[in-house]
Amino acid sequence: MRRPLDAGPGFGRRPLLGMSPRGAPLWIGMLVGSLVTWTVTELPYVNWHPVASPLEASSLIIRQDAKGDGRFLAPRSGGRRHQGIDLVADLHCPVRAIRSGTVVQVGVHRGLGRFVELEHRQHLHSVYAHLDEVLVEAGARVRQGTQIGTVGKTGNARHRWITPHLHLEVVRDGEPIDPQSLGLPIAEPVASRLVTRLAGDSGHEQGGE
Ligand SMILES: [Zn+2]
Repeated sequence: MRRPLDAGPGFGRRPLLGMSPRGAPLWIGMLVGSLVTWTVTELPYVNWHPVASPLEASSLIIRQDAKGDGRFLAPRSGGRRHQGIDLVADLHCPVRAIRSGTVVQVGVHRGLGRFVELEHRQHLHSVYAHLDEVLVEAGARVRQGTQIGTVGKTGNARHRWITPHLHLEVVRDGEPIDPQSLGLPIAEPVASRLVTRLAGDSGHEQGGE
């Protein structure tokens, strides 16, 4: 076949399937559509920080009181180890999601009290315990920094000698990890060390979840 002078490079090929009326391939329209849909639905759930503070305090302080040590893997009664960290907090102050995720469990546990469990990407879960109020329901999606509840003294934190705190647990691939390894800035609990030492001397058992 003779090639007309004004024929473009596509002359002689089979027409592309799925051309839009204006001639732009349909897949471009679909791609743009999916990108817009993704942006509208997923952008709010982007984690702008590797980890957001679960409390509004300017610095996070680990619980060290007469009933125990709130550090990760601190000894607990019955040979157990503390699976999270205890962050000192005022009662009823907001508790926020450290990363975007889905609420997988809201419940009451003997030790943890009222708690919320979130599932995040990369096989990460976070648990917020001893809560007073819970503001989310199972199945809900939450954004990083969303308030999910308030600090309480439920579960075994109800003891009057236990400083009000948030028990924060982070689990990766089923194994508890130190939440500080995600980059939470924790202040050294200098002032309260004496209290712990005195408590240790007097033979108090390590308590609290
Ligand atoms: Zn704890």
